[in-house]
Amino acid sequence: MKFSTKAIHIGNEPNLQEGGSGDVIVPIHLSTTFARKKVSIPTAGYDYSRSRNPTRDALEKNLAALENAHYAFAFSSGLAALTNVLLMFKPGDHIVSIDNVYGGNFRLFKQVFAQWGLEVSFVDFVTGDDIKKYIRPYTKLIFLESPTNPLMKIIDLASVASVAKQKKILTLVDNTFATPYWQKPLDLGTDIVLHSATKYLGGHSDVTGGCIMVNDKALADRIGFLQNAIGAVLSPFDCYNLLKGSKTLELRMKKHEENTLQVVEFLSKQKKVKKIYYPGHPSHPQYKLAKKQMKGFGAVLSLELHGNRETVRTFLESLQLFYIAINIGEVASLIEHPATMTHAAVPKAEREKCGLSDTLIRLSVGIEDVEDLIADLSQALDKV
Ligand code: PLP
Repeated sequence: MKFSTKAIHIGNEPNLQEGGSGDVIVPIHLSTTFARKKVSIPTAGYDYSRSRNPTRDALEKNLAALENAHYAFAFSSGLAALTNVLLMFKPGDHIVSIDNVYGGNFRLFKQVFAQWGLEVSFVDFVTGDDIKKYIRPYTKLIFLESPTNPLMKIIDLASVASVAKQKKILTLVDNTFATPYWQKPLDLGTDIVLHSATKYLGGHSDVTGGCIMVNDKALADRIGFLQNAIGAVLSPFDCYNLLKGSKTLELRMKKHEENTLQVVEFLSKQKKVKKIYYPGHPSHPQYKLAKKQMKGFGAVLSLELHGNRETVRTFLESLQLFYIAINIGEVASLIEHPATMTHAAVPKAEREKCGLSDTLIRLSVGIEDVEDLIADLSQALDKV
């Protein structure tokens, strides 16, 4: 079954059994508990909604299919999903992470789990060979974002996964930026995929959610146990909303990317633009790797303008269609200033170490008419 067919059908199958209503969308099961006839037998496997809920089951089935995974778990946010994973480890364990990560991921590692005794090294690498020198005897996880947020660096997922496998270390890929439409990290040999579903999976900035996908049964059992034990599950209404979003993922991602390629082409010709960070542009250092491991390049890009913080402020505040907002993956175009917005939780020294300057700008290109987007960028550039 092809991607859109799975997105529309899997998990969304009408109940045509005797007594079933045949709804063509998944009903929102708000019930927090489920009555049973026999004390020891839950009805259809459901007993309490934190543990299992029919709407969440439908969503998890759908999300698993999108990543070619055997199992998926839906959480109340991307950070709740990451917390769930990190609680699989114990104080004294070590994690190697790519240096340029989402500011909230960084904060969770450094200001929450570090105090709990989990050690994280943030390092710069692209391939499995690069990473070998950072691995310690007690390294348990390699944490990857690819593309990274917001510098759009690409990591060679297959080669990192193969080194990690030899050393019995788990690999986790935050696949939020690429989405399963453009990149399938489990197919490349990694162990865990994580999403902030708040982005493209939902697609309309009306769901805060997260998810984890895995293939290994033992890993799934542990994550499922912790999901119930910790309890940061996605609500039935949000599950329904996310199921609605995922149906149009392919359609949206194609249009997002089509627009982005034209926006990048326009920006790359502008004298006021100093540098563009986009893996689909031949100037990107991992352009060939991106072409090899991704089906497409996505719709997030970053850029530097000639000028200073004031230039950045004037540019952002002159835009009419690009909303200045912390998020990506929304149908409307968004723009932000990572140093003071999404990555404000990363200390300046750490930001500078990985090349995230105070004048970097991040764009999430929406699915509006691209001519309007380019006209908007053009009039804002005229003001700086
Ligand atoms: N991962 C990435 C790449 C993100 O950009 C974000 C949020 O911006 C998260 C994870 C965290 O997700 P949430 O905001 O849903 O907790």
